[in-house]
Amino acid sequence: MKPSVLLVEDEHAISSLVRYNLESQGFRVREATDGDEALDLVREERPDLVILDWMLPSVSGLEVCRSLRRSKQNKGLPIIMLTARAEEEDRVRGLDSGADDYVTKPFSPSELVARVRAVLRRTRPALSESRLTYADIEMELDTYRVRRGDRPVHLGPTEFRLLRHLLEHPRRVFSREQLLDSVWGPDICVEPRTVDVHIRRLRKALNGPGELDLIRTVRSAGYALEVAEN
Ligand code: CA
Repeated sequence: MKPSVLLVEDEHAISSLVRYNLESQGFRVREATDGDEALDLVREERPDLVILDWMLPSVSGLEVCRSLRRSKQNKGLPIIMLTARAEEEDRVRGLDSGADDYVTKPFSPSELVARVRAVLRRTRPALSESRLTYADIEMELDTYRVRRGDRPVHLGPTEFRLLRHLLEHPRRVFSREQLLDSVWGPDICVEPRTVDVHIRRLRKALNGPGELDLIRTVRSAGYALEVAEN
């Protein structure tokens, strides 16, 4: 599936140029022109990465970035901030926005695309690889092999797709509804509780005796693949 990028920029000349370049490089692009629209689209569309202009009408890009980082659901969402000048870039960095990378205007579209790829490779290796890993879990997409450390893990087809989705978005929290949509498909009508059943099976297969549980249950929010912090 094509990686999706949410582009948040109020200057049409810039956004259309960036959009054109990203689409020609195989990305899906959605656009927002202000901060509120950006936050709505992140919620609705779950993009793989956000390109966020610092100078936006009403809510600044910096505020959007911080508010995304504050939310449990989006703290792992990769964000690249666009800033107007090098000094502003320094200032935004100094303000600790939580962005993964910063690109200074004016930039060449190909440079921005390269930065998008680099951030995705770092934060979401899944999008470019045929092998997914997180902590000591390893999944080979071609051969459907899964290992944890040296031990082979045997999964049913649903657990495999579920784990694949989580490996593709490490540390992101997904609600049961979102998992149903992405793993089972939007047209399948099953109870959100079904997700719990398959998460339980996945945990059972994945967690050997004495092994850390890498699936985090986030109360009233959902599940994430994440190494516990303590
Ligand atoms: Ca702007």
